[in-house]
Amino acid sequence: TCSAGDSQTVVIGLAADSGCGKSTFMRRLTSVFGGAAEPPKGGNPDSNTLISDMTTVICLDDYHSLDRTGRKEKGVTALDPRANDFDLMYEQVKAIKSGVAVDKPIYNHVTGLLDPPELIKPPKILVIEGLHPMFDERVRDLLDFSIYLDISNEVKFAWKIQRDMAERGHSLESIKASIEARKPDFDAYIDPQKKYADAVIEVLPTQLIPDDNEGKVLRVRLIMKEGVKHFSPVYLFDEGSTISWIPCGRKLTCSYPGIKFHYGPDTYFSNEVSILEMDGQFDRLDELIYVESHLSNISTKFYGEVTQQMLKHADFPGSNNGTGLFQTIVGLKIRDLYEQITSSKTAAPLEATKA
Ligand code: ADP
Repeated sequence: TCSAGDSQTVVIGLAADSGCGKSTFMRRLTSVFGGAAEPPKGGNPDSNTLISDMTTVICLDDYHSLDRTGRKEKGVTALDPRANDFDLMYEQVKAIKSGVAVDKPIYNHVTGLLDPPELIKPPKILVIEGLHPMFDERVRDLLDFSIYLDISNEVKFAWKIQRDMAERGHSLESIKASIEARKPDFDAYIDPQKKYADAVIEVLPTQLIPDDNEGKVLRVRLIMKEGVKHFSPVYLFDEGSTISWIPCGRKLTCSYPGIKFHYGPDTYFSNEVSILEMDGQFDRLDELIYVESHLSNISTKFYGEVTQQMLKHADFPGSNNGTGLFQTIVGLKIRDLYEQITSSKTAAPLEATKA
């Protein structure tokens, strides 16, 4: 009982549709904790789990109760709760959170079958990423922090074209059709989870270019819930005020269409939130330090840490815009949250264990 209680796992939920940047986000997050995440050594090569020193990222597709054939027979999609085993998800996340290792199933994305399970030991931080981390109330209550990546249809379409057409040879029509086919279940089961999220990263087409439909320049909003334990929202200039800021000029090089920030209090699904918005993209990442120096509450350990992280992963998608910037900042906020949770734990129960 002693060892399990001493090292409780902090659990983070990350929800998004597939192909919406979850893996990229996870790479940024694990980098903040100082280590690249890799598949478990010596296990199933089709494992979806990523392990680093501090974090274990499990993919919730592993809790599919129906494999690809089963879904086809029953006529349900992977987005449908009926294709997922929430009882097992709850039992296993609860066990890991309380320090107990579990045998987690593996959903094989290549064959569409369920493979023999793999052992997951309790890490310091467990991230559950996938379609439904906030769907089941019991699982939701286990989360210490939750994030929803909200990619607008226009942008989703642009990214899918980039990936499926350029890299996988799919046709424009088939991409359109597959997005349309997913939409009813997406709207019914995935999208509603965003009202539970502590932070939402919303990705929209730019407003800087009239009638833009390229989806290259993005307007990204970081929506941060107020009053969340161990999480205090980032702000620009002065907390709680409303500010529009064009940083371009002597200290920041901007080419067309420029960069525009916005910050202010707001409401989101009747919750009080702060929203930080960035529209446009950076020309020179090293100049990001200028923007960083005007942001507060970003939970850095030293001056320029956001810029350093962004430069380190300049090759990741979204590094020149608000997606990369806000993913990096959320990563730092999670590190802060983790440190607050663990320090409050070790400070208090230490006396109890001694006695
Ligand atoms: P997921 O893990 O959710 O399936 P990935 O992180 O693998 O998503 O990203 C899928 C694809 O989407 C990438 O290959 C890239 O083409 C595109 N993408 C993801 N994030 C961004 C971004 N911030 N900006 C532009 N494209 C992106």
